[in-house]
Amino acid sequence: LVSREVRPHDTIVDVRGIKVGGGSTVVIAGPCSVESEAQIMESARVVREAGASMLRGGAFKPRSSPYTFRGLGELGLQLLAQARDETGLPIVTEVMTPTDVELVARYADVLQIGARNMQNYQLLEEVGRTGMPVLLKRGLSATIEEWLLSAEYVIAQGNPNVILCERGIRTFETATRNTMDLNAVALAKRRTHLPVIVDPSHGTGKWYLVPPLALASIAAGADGLIMEVHPDPDRAKSDGGQSLNPENFAALMPKIAAVAAAV
Ligand code: PEP
Ligand code: MN
Repeated sequence: LVSREVRPHDTIVDVRGIKVGGGSTVVIAGPCSVESEAQIMESARVVREAGASMLRGGAFKPRSSPYTFRGLGELGLQLLAQARDETGLPIVTEVMTPTDVELVARYADVLQIGARNMQNYQLLEEVGRTGMPVLLKRGLSATIEEWLLSAEYVIAQGNPNVILCERGIRTFETATRNTMDLNAVALAKRRTHLPVIVDPSHGTGKWYLVPPLALASIAAGADGLIMEVHPDPDRAKSDGGQSLNPENFAALMPKIAAVAAAV
């Protein structure tokens, strides 16, 4: 179902009128986690002002350590909905378990499947049954074939609205959090009709590597980006070291537009 041989034309995923795929470049931005009303409202305002088209923010966080901040849960979802009401930005947020799908779907515009859950097949089928747009992150050590087969699980439920997201993979390299696989972007664009976006925040783990890799991702053919932006990265409860501050995000946006216009 995901193959270009089956469907030669690009799938365009419509998120409240915003088109993902088919030639436009979408930018999804916001904090790693929803931390408070003030933090998410401020994040939403700054990313919208800079030209982002959707807001990201985690309410249910898959943290590597159980002793770190794991999100505000339903309160986080309510705050995201409030940010959408005020800014008009559709919201992208992660759902971690099949039993939470109904709850998260009540608030979200795009259901994010995190890297750690790429092969949670019950979760994939459950989000497939909602018919809603699904942002499918590539697993930490998943091959491109495995990633596409996970997309197949969602689409097999009758939900064609899958956005693939490359977010870096595990390699022997330790200088960066992950290794960005831009091969995967160009190859997935060739092999599938699905939109492909890139997350250079988790892909690199360092805020100062986000701008160059964001631009490289667009040059490699990505249909957009999802990036972590925080009003005060030093005080972020998660992933502050890879989050852009509002100034650096605003400075990056015209460069993304320039590269997108050139490819
Ligand atoms: C996130 O988007 O904050 C996240 C946890 O991403 P990933 O699943 O790619 O690690
Ligand atoms: Mn994060």
